[in-house]
Amino acid sequence: MKIAFFNTKSYDQHSFEKTNQNHGHDIHFISSHLNLETANLVVDEDVVCAFINDSLNADVLKVLKQKGVKLIALRSAGFNHVDLVAAKELALPVVRVPTYSPYAVAEHAAGLLMCLNRKIHRAFNRVREGDFSLHNLMGFDLHGKTVGVIGTGKIGLAFINIMLGFGCRVIAYDMVENKEYIEKGVQYVSLDMLFKQANIISLHCPLTETTQHLINDKTLACMQDGVTIINTSRGKLIDTKAIIQALKRGKVGLLGLDVYEEEEALFYEDFSSSVIQDDQLSRLLTFPNVIITSHQAFFTQEAMSKIAHVTLSNVTEFANNGTIQNEVIL
Ligand code: NAD
Repeated sequence: MKIAFFNTKSYDQHSFEKTNQNHGHDIHFISSHLNLETANLVVDEDVVCAFINDSLNADVLKVLKQKGVKLIALRSAGFNHVDLVAAKELALPVVRVPTYSPYAVAEHAAGLLMCLNRKIHRAFNRVREGDFSLHNLMGFDLHGKTVGVIGTGKIGLAFINIMLGFGCRVIAYDMVENKEYIEKGVQYVSLDMLFKQANIISLHCPLTETTQHLINDKTLACMQDGVTIINTSRGKLIDTKAIIQALKRGKVGLLGLDVYEEEEALFYEDFSSSVIQDDQLSRLLTFPNVIITSHQAFFTQEAMSKIAHVTLSNVTEFANNGTIQNEVIL
């Protein structure tokens, strides 16, 4: 099938071209993000392949449908950037990559935690300046600490395994309890109890109407002083304004973010020669106890290869049968 592949980076092109040798689709790589203006770059393609920072609102979907697009193939697990109601009304199926490497994301969450706690980001710069002192670099043992995991799906469970390996006590909150992990020693608790007891909180639930701003003034007030918060899930789970205030008060001791509330305008692009216009992000970047990465938790060789394989298999399956296993059902 003909595929319009929006928002292409060189690493996407490399992995998709390699995997496409087994599928033979005709891929038109486009560097622009997908939005109402760029939707017109679709000429006669049957499929639009999009990423998490592309816009797939009702207006964009209407244009794509008019242009004869038959399938939206997301090369991501998340689909909160697609207006699924509009897609259904337009009879435009949406497919995704439900799982590629939970380890990639869980390991990145653990990496943020380790780096923040042992201040490796600060030590790296300090030693390069010839400063071999240890002042302000003291961390804490993870062993014996209480880690609260919100969302025990694929990534949450992979993260729990790492934390259990460190000898942490793991408490969790999810509507669906995992019996196997209860046997491994994980204790499911209410969200309130998790906020009260956890020294470290890691977010692994999806962004929905109920989880938006899950971390806010009220919930932050219930947490332990100096709590560590790690978010590799979705930026809007955290009220940025509230967390900046909590950092200033010392309520939050360490903050690791791979995602940010307003990331769409910035992440995946190079703004190193520009003035960042987002004042909240700029403020967050001034804290020594905050590390921000640019939504890269998924970015491992294994995950990229699986994303290309599943995305192109979704398209092949649609071309052969007209049905798709990985369709996002409303
Ligand atoms: P999953 O569907 O396997 O698990 C999500 C879990 O969250 C489920 O167990 C579900 O019951 C639970 N959940 C739903 N609503 C909840 C709520 N209100 N409170 C607590 N738990 C709730 O998904 P996954 O593959 O583990 O991915 C988790 C999230 O990670 C995704 O939603 C996505 O936002 C994020 N993600 C980030 C990256 C990255 O690169 N940073 C990559 C992939 C996924």
